[in-house]
Amino acid sequence: MIDAVVIGSGPNGLSAAIVLAQAGCKVVVFEANATAGGGVRSAELTLPGFTHDVCSAVHPFAIASPFWQTLPLSKYGLEWIQPAVMLAHPLDDGRAASTVRSLEATAAGLGDDGRAYADIVGGVVRDWPRISRAVLGPPTLPRHPLALAKFGLHALRSMQGLAMSTFKSEAARALLAGSAAHGMLPLEHALTAGIGLTLTALSHIGGWPIPRGGSQSITTALVQHLASLGGEVFAGSPVNDVDKLPRAKIVLCDLSPRPLLRIAGHKFPRAYRRRLERYRYGMGVFKVDWALDAPIPWTSDECRRAGTVHVGGTLAEIAASERDAWSGRVSERPFVLMSQPTTLDPSRAPAGKHVAWGYCHVPSGSTVAMLDRIERQIERFAPGFRDRVLARSITTPRDLEANNPNLVGGDIGAGVTDLRQFFTRPTWRNYSTPVKGLYLCSASTPPGVGVHGMCGYYAAKLALARS
Ligand SMILES: Cc1cc2nc3c(=O)[nH]c(=O)nc-3n(C[C@H](O)[C@H](O)[C@H](O)COP(=O)(O)OP(=O)(O)OC[C@H]3O[C@@H](n4cnc5c(N)ncnc54)[C@H](O)[C@@H]3O)c2cc1C
Repeated sequence: MIDAVVIGSGPNGLSAAIVLAQAGCKVVVFEANATAGGGVRSAELTLPGFTHDVCSAVHPFAIASPFWQTLPLSKYGLEWIQPAVMLAHPLDDGRAASTVRSLEATAAGLGDDGRAYADIVGGVVRDWPRISRAVLGPPTLPRHPLALAKFGLHALRSMQGLAMSTFKSEAARALLAGSAAHGMLPLEHALTAGIGLTLTALSHIGGWPIPRGGSQSITTALVQHLASLGGEVFAGSPVNDVDKLPRAKIVLCDLSPRPLLRIAGHKFPRAYRRRLERYRYGMGVFKVDWALDAPIPWTSDECRRAGTVHVGGTLAEIAASERDAWSGRVSERPFVLMSQPTTLDPSRAPAGKHVAWGYCHVPSGSTVAMLDRIERQIERFAPGFRDRVLARSITTPRDLEANNPNLVGGDIGAGVTDLRQFFTRPTWRNYSTPVKGLYLCSASTPPGVGVHGMCGYYAAKLALARS
């Protein structure tokens, strides 16, 4: 007898399954792909012996996840590695802005802007225990309204506005802009400051770690923990129609609205279907994985010691790149987000060799080849990079969607996270649907994109409370 079915085994699907199994439910997870994990998997994408992250690579949200902190994931082999430099941002004069674990040391590295950094980013760090539930959870009445209001004052602004009015140096402005650009919105838009401030602050909270062995280790630990609670994952088992599922009181869908409509649309009243149809997806991603003969030859020492490197120059350049992708144009100088895991975890490549991961934002569904533009940006700050490339694997927006229907047009966020869709994600109902027992638990529900499992956690808690 099955109590609950979860469709999709991304981090949110697995987290939802664990919450249900913890409550004593018999849970099964059906996963369309041949392997579990959704956006959290690793594979030999280029050459034998080179382990690449298929999607997520760097995990500031995972280590800060309030739910995962309660799970015994280390027992199943999950080990976090913290880089000496969390995030480096090279500039054309050969220097780099960077964050390290210590807030004070990071602020000191920003010269005259150090005080403002310690004030604004430090404010988020200090208030994190009071605001994390609101940032990593659904919209509810806040438990700490004053702390949240203080955060909101900055967070609701655009990063362009906040950075220009707060910092004097290009370095500090670019540093914050790079983190804000993870949000896949033009930096003139409201809320981009909140994305940038939160991600930057996480450098000083849980860090920006990578899991030893690749992001697959997160999925492996979640699947094994679920199994220890009696839950099962069936990979290679796409669900094409919710009516064909085994009978269960609870069905949780780790799906974004478009694939949800495909398998369950016929069950919804017209008004709800229309709302889901109106859900907006955003820009896409063009990703490259490299097998390298040697580490990336960054000019700046900070970049060589960093886990993550933001390649895109000044705030103005990054803002232009994001504006282009948002408006349907291809940027000639794209903002490139890079991870270089083998500088921390040599087990992921043959001795002396390396892997690197990078992507840039492009218009939704874009078919334009970005490899040359991406590599020119890297060469700008790491001359000789191309000479070290042994092999490349390219993932286009179409490939992303073909591998995972949640990522419409290659939108790795499973939908735009602007002010409107932040609160009504994917509708005002958030996790529930008009169909009794049927719930959404994907990154298209609050708190949205990122590897943290909190969408799954809250969806499963609601489903349990209602059943
Ligand atoms: C290229 C890329 C890079 C990223 N980098 C980072 C990063 O560095 N750090 C970070 O925190 N986040 C990153 N993310 C975002 C992160 O991976 C996602 O936010 C997260 O995986 C969302 O989890 P989820 O459980 O909601 O859905 P997903 O991970 O998308 O999982 C959904 C699962 O459902 C399955 N599925 C879909 N339809 C069906 C069906 N009909 N039947 C059965 N199964 C189905 C899919 O195959 C998939 O396995 C990245 C994402 C991508 C794509």
